[in-house]
Amino acid sequence: MVTSPNAQAIIHDEYDVVVAGAGNAGLVAALAAHDAGARVLVLEAAPEAERGGNSRFSGGIFRCAHDGLESLLGLITEESAAWADRVTVEPYPVEQYNAEYNKSSNSRNDPLLTKRVIDESFETVEWMADHGVKWELTVGKLIDPDKIGKNEQYALPPGGALRAAHEGVGLIEDLFAAVEKAGIDIWYSSPVSELVMDGNRCTGVVVQTTEGDLIVEAVTVLAAGGFEANPEMRQRWLGPGWDLVKVRGTRFNQGTVLNAAMTAGAQPEGHWGGCHAVPLDADAPVVGDLRLTDKMSRYSYPYALLLNSDCERFVDEGENEVWLTYAKTGAAIRGQQGAWAFQLFDAKSSHLLEPRYSTGTPIVADDLATLAEKVGVNAEALAATVEAYNSACHDGDFDPFTKDGLSAAPAGQPVKSNWAQRIDSPPFVVYPVTCGITFTYGGLKVDDTARVIDTANRVMGGLHATGELTGGFFYHNYPAGAGLMRGAVFGRLAGAGAAAEALATAATVPVS
Ligand SMILES: Cc1cc2nc3c(=O)[nH]c(=O)nc-3n(C[C@H](O)[C@H](O)[C@H](O)COP(=O)(O)OP(=O)(O)OC[C@H]3O[C@@H](n4cnc5c(N)ncnc54)[C@H](O)[C@@H]3O)c2cc1C
Repeated sequence: MVTSPNAQAIIHDEYDVVVAGAGNAGLVAALAAHDAGARVLVLEAAPEAERGGNSRFSGGIFRCAHDGLESLLGLITEESAAWADRVTVEPYPVEQYNAEYNKSSNSRNDPLLTKRVIDESFETVEWMADHGVKWELTVGKLIDPDKIGKNEQYALPPGGALRAAHEGVGLIEDLFAAVEKAGIDIWYSSPVSELVMDGNRCTGVVVQTTEGDLIVEAVTVLAAGGFEANPEMRQRWLGPGWDLVKVRGTRFNQGTVLNAAMTAGAQPEGHWGGCHAVPLDADAPVVGDLRLTDKMSRYSYPYALLLNSDCERFVDEGENEVWLTYAKTGAAIRGQQGAWAFQLFDAKSSHLLEPRYSTGTPIVADDLATLAEKVGVNAEALAATVEAYNSACHDGDFDPFTKDGLSAAPAGQPVKSNWAQRIDSPPFVVYPVTCGITFTYGGLKVDDTARVIDTANRVMGGLHATGELTGGFFYHNYPAGAGLMRGAVFGRLAGAGAAAEALATAATVPVS
């Protein structure tokens, strides 16, 4: 270690690759770089107790292309495989993945980046299994199987059928175990504050340690998340009102590294005014709590009416399978008075609530007038909305597991395209909700090998990026499970690319 003229100590020639951020994307990158023979250091802003970023809060769902249940059985734990005869999982071909991905982003997503994510999704999940990540089916996530009949089979959504065992907490435990087993160094409470540049080439990072600032010289992988936990940046990029929304995940994703990279010349890319935001329990904490992880989310609205404080409907609750609509529904709620709304169920659907609704406090009544009083909304307005909706409903077969086409088009209200049953069977049940931001869509421009591109459209030497901090992947909306998948696919690319660059450079540096 030497000391630079400005008194910053420099870590020189101890590491080939330095990774900023220890979430899913960063840890996968670190493992890939280590596999390729690099000496790797991971720098993490959070203390060890809060490590794992948004990935630890997540539901652990990985959207991967696959050939159906049989193809997943080789991946999942024995415990999970015991569910195999209770569920069906249709194949999820790359064409369907691509179509759903493009539709959710209004085809604004970069086709090359998207292709990488999709084409390498299954092999990446297998690669992670080889590195010790355990997998399971998403049984029990959306619906409690015990509430639908002990021997009844039900369909898992093909794109949302696989998750890390024990969700984000399990994912992060498995990834850290792999990183620690590999002997990769991790420094906690060590935020990266700047990139060290030589022209448009990154030669390392400045890290703020408890003992002062250091420069770590190495080929760099940026994986430090988006800016969703920073109210000033949310207001600046997402718009008025976004400063006040609740944050579902880690408080450490402040956009610091994103800003540092742009200061160093990296090109911003993607939907900077857009984000992933969901219906969240109105009483959820203002920032994610690791004791609750994702358990305050409220995704059973396709079977409900979603009403604002004037008792007006404002979305098509049944537009599509919930995993293809939930990520834009938070923004719709944020646009309502007080960023507040309520989900209204009746006895025909309340057994279909996701198990995690148990973390909330329902408001229950046997008639709508009493319900309105308890919720604090106008009883006449509630009755009028429900009556108009009910009179537009048709008799037909309700099927909670597939788009059943049971639709209603009430006058003066949005259509409800699927699961449109009358709300007429007491007790009526309400869950108040607000908007919870998950992550931001704008980020750094990368090529399809995870190299960072500068504002003159040139590849920046020594700089690779992955995960939430990259842009061009998602616009307007998002298919569930694509975030972790994107971070892992590009994490492998970033780690392997950084290692190859570092080792090639080392081989050509003359020994003095
Ligand atoms: C409640 C919830 C549920 C979710 N469920 C799913 C799901 O089921 N499937 C899915 O695909 N996605 C899900 N997501 C989204 C998913 O978690 C993210 O897309 C993914 O975790 C991003 O991974 P990442 O590694 O890029 O970022 P993160 O996991 O957030 O990791 C970034 C890391 O960088 C660190 N960091 C920040 N600033 C600095 C700095 N200056 N220096 C060093 N380190 C820094 C942070 O502390 C953090 O540890 C969910 C998110 C939340 C919040």
